[in-house]
Amino acid sequence: MTAPRLEIRLDRIEHNARALVERLGARGIAVTGVTKASLGSPEVARAMLAAGASGLGESRLDNVVRLRIAGITAPIVLIRAPMPSQVADVVRHADSSLNTEPVVLELLSAAAVAQQRRHGIVLMVELGDLREGILIDDVADIAKLVLSRPGLELRGIGTNLACQSGVVPDDVNMGVLSELATSLEADLGVSLATVSGGNSANLDWALSGADVGRVDDLRLGEAILLGCEPLRRTPIDGLATDAFSLVAEVIEAKVKPSRPWGTIAQTAFGPRPAAPDHGDGNRAIVALGRQDVDPDGLGAPDGIVILGASSDHLVLDTGATPLTVGAEVRFSLDYRALLRAMTSVFVTRQFVA
Ligand SMILES: *Cc1c(COP(=O)(O)O)cnc(C)c1O
Repeated sequence: MTAPRLEIRLDRIEHNARALVERLGARGIAVTGVTKASLGSPEVARAMLAAGASGLGESRLDNVVRLRIAGITAPIVLIRAPMPSQVADVVRHADSSLNTEPVVLELLSAAAVAQQRRHGIVLMVELGDLREGILIDDVADIAKLVLSRPGLELRGIGTNLACQSGVVPDDVNMGVLSELATSLEADLGVSLATVSGGNSANLDWALSGADVGRVDDLRLGEAILLGCEPLRRTPIDGLATDAFSLVAEVIEAKVKPSRPWGTIAQTAFGPRPAAPDHGDGNRAIVALGRQDVDPDGLGAPDGIVILGASSDHLVLDTGATPLTVGAEVRFSLDYRALLRAMTSVFVTRQFVA
């Protein structure tokens, strides 16, 4: 079998998605399954849909196209604002997109008219995290622009927190979003089909028993794929945290000293703290590096410590257990490690039962 390989357990992804669909459904909130950390994997998308996700969210148009080519017809929302240069393909392949810029909305409308389609628009509102979002006083004007353009359909509003600045979704910011939905409906004489409250970081709030107000959708990636919530990276009760694991192969196994010798300067990836002297110990190198994964997001098996990583080598202290050349070592992954491994051309993917 080839290494490094990412082993993916679709049944666990489906289990996680179903649990979240049920728990949030009880609160009137639908789940948009976000596939971006899986490189738009059609298999992962199908697992999410089988579990009851109301649609899919993807940040990359390439991945949206991959899902469509695989035959997925479920609604797909492009969750990163479209680039002006790609509006025609956005309209062709995605049902809707999250937007903040009037100039892009004009281009989307023109592209949709040219294709005799209507493209759904969710306007993103800035609620303090300072990534994408329209400032609250400007939302009504931009909503009017959407309503006046023939190629566009105003689906609703949304927000995204906890990504750029770590702002926590709470009763205050979610309350502002709900009030905005209600006031827009009154001012513009429309009804908004969706109020998309955020991402996996919203789960604590959404499941806390708080009044969720108008929020009726969450866009969930990490919680489904890794079974943990991103604010404190704690496992979510009843969810599987091992749907993904990364397997790498040992290419050197020797007893070596714990301290380097010679004059010490920077490593290939910057300065490194001096290693404490533990005497000689079991070391192994696995054929895995920064070109494959973000090593800071890897979890080693019990008894093994990751000592360092360069482009192609991961150096391990294997404690009391000497490994053998050719043996496989299995690592767990956090979100950043998963993202890099999924997008590395060097890592193969294997779906296991
Ligand atoms: C990535 C992303 C999500 C999903 O985030 P998770 O933390 O993986 O649930 C939702 N919305 C937007 C706009 C995103 O960029």
